[in-house]
Amino acid sequence: MKKETEVLIIGGGVVGTAIARELAKYKLDVTLVEKEADVCTGTSKANTALLHAGFNADFNTLKGKLNVRGNELYHQLEKELDVPIEWIGALVVAKKEAELAKLEELLENGQQNGVPDLEILKREELFKLEPNLSPDAIAALYAPTAGIVNPFELTVAFAENAVENGVEVLLEAEVLDIKEQGNYKLVRTAQGDIEAELVINAAGLYSDKIANMVGIDDFEITPRKGEYYLYDKKLDLDVNHTIFPVPTEVSKGIVITPTDEVNLLIGPNAEEVEDKSDLANTREGLDEVMSGAQKTIPDLGMSGVIKQFSGLRAAIKETEDFLIEASEKVEGFINVAGIQSPGLASAPAIAEMVAGIVEKEYDELELDPDFNPEHQGIPRFRHLSHQERAKLLEGNEDYGEIICRCESITKGEIIDAIRGPIGARTVNAVKRRVRPGAGRCQGGFCEPKVVEILAEELGIEPTEVKLEGQGSQLLVEPAKESLQKEVSDSE
Ligand SMILES: Cc1cc2nc3c(=O)[nH]c(=O)nc-3n(C[C@H](O)[C@H](O)[C@H](O)COP(=O)(O)OP(=O)(O)OC[C@H]3O[C@@H](n4cnc5c(N)ncnc54)[C@H](O)[C@@H]3O)c2cc1C
Repeated sequence: MKKETEVLIIGGGVVGTAIARELAKYKLDVTLVEKEADVCTGTSKANTALLHAGFNADFNTLKGKLNVRGNELYHQLEKELDVPIEWIGALVVAKKEAELAKLEELLENGQQNGVPDLEILKREELFKLEPNLSPDAIAALYAPTAGIVNPFELTVAFAENAVENGVEVLLEAEVLDIKEQGNYKLVRTAQGDIEAELVINAAGLYSDKIANMVGIDDFEITPRKGEYYLYDKKLDLDVNHTIFPVPTEVSKGIVITPTDEVNLLIGPNAEEVEDKSDLANTREGLDEVMSGAQKTIPDLGMSGVIKQFSGLRAAIKETEDFLIEASEKVEGFINVAGIQSPGLASAPAIAEMVAGIVEKEYDELELDPDFNPEHQGIPRFRHLSHQERAKLLEGNEDYGEIICRCESITKGEIIDAIRGPIGARTVNAVKRRVRPGAGRCQGGFCEPKVVEILAEELGIEPTEVKLEGQGSQLLVEPAKESLQKEVSDSE
């Protein structure tokens, strides 16, 4: 049967899910479709995870305006959504006299964008904050309002709070085609047809392809790859802020930052690629990352690295800005495209702006008095006191069984992730929600156990459990059967 909805959001990244939650505040029937088996599997899962203060993006751009508003909104959101944010502040470090003018320029641009409390620190003050900096650092721009967040927890929380307020999220529902039919759009998806009054295109790297489906061809998305190294939390090197070099025309430079779980992260470089699915790490890219980071903190090296990964920015090269507008060409179609950095920092402000556009599309749009902004996250056993742990255990013994030893993740947390409003269905979906496999051994010890719990909870065979997308099953068949086959083959 054909499904009907008032608003259809395409894309379950941080932008689509933030929009879904914002629209859940209204008396509106909202559906979100995502092509993958989970939310947060596109650009939102692989980035630097910074809530930028907002001094970088030019004050004449949408990026500049929305970054600062987004950063402000996160102060309320971290409490409502139970997603911790560390407001650690950012430094842009100058090493040559010639770079001092650039610091002044960034300070002025930030002030035009409305970034509060920016200041330029002299060498002595700078080294008090970051003693491990390269000795040739001479000054820095300091932005105390910059923060770091876990982008997976954030995106899942936006999506789950939207669901808790009545939004329907359909996974593995790739949009294949859109046709205009009178006042409606008929959207063909992998989960069946959906008739929608209004379509919001938040499909990230593929937003140009979605726009093409309704005949809009005036923007193109260019994937721009950024590579990273991630360090073990036990690395014996203190970095207290997000540290940038002075930016160049094309890039903010190689960043060094703690993550929300105090691993150190370095990257990204910036390289245009053709393939929107090309997430391969390259020798050149990773070398650029390491040598760039060493210019700022010379003690960094390969020792302590536990992972490398990469992400793809969805850039509109002609403008290098966000494109957020109701299409003039196609009625009932809103583009939210070109959301490159600082898209994560700006997401709540983007959602606010899109809600404003949606309000204009409907003559009368009422707020829903039943909207509940509060979302309860999964208990983070590793961060609890002994008393809090004991209390949790009283109600559920599964919180007493450690599954991931590196990150101290319990069976109880993994089961919570699977039973959540948007329950994890894959090994990586569990990892995004509660971190088993995110530590030093990268799942070597706990992955088989996570597979076992997923199979048990979902009522499927372990051989059916997937790592992420289609065809990514981790096990072929039970070892006993394999051995028996080998024996009978050799007879
Ligand atoms: C290297 C790098 C570093 C970055 N660092 C930062 C940072 O520190 N701070 C910051 O603020 N921003 C940063 N960003 C930018 C930020 O990550 C993005 O702006 C943000 O994640 C974009 O979110 P999105 O929802 O638009 O896209 P996505 O997360 O890509 O979501 C789009 C979704 O649409 C789905 N989709 C696509 N096609 C279809 C279809 N046909 N049908 C259904 N679903 C579909 C995809 O599967 C995907 O899940 C960085 C980006 C990169 C690449």
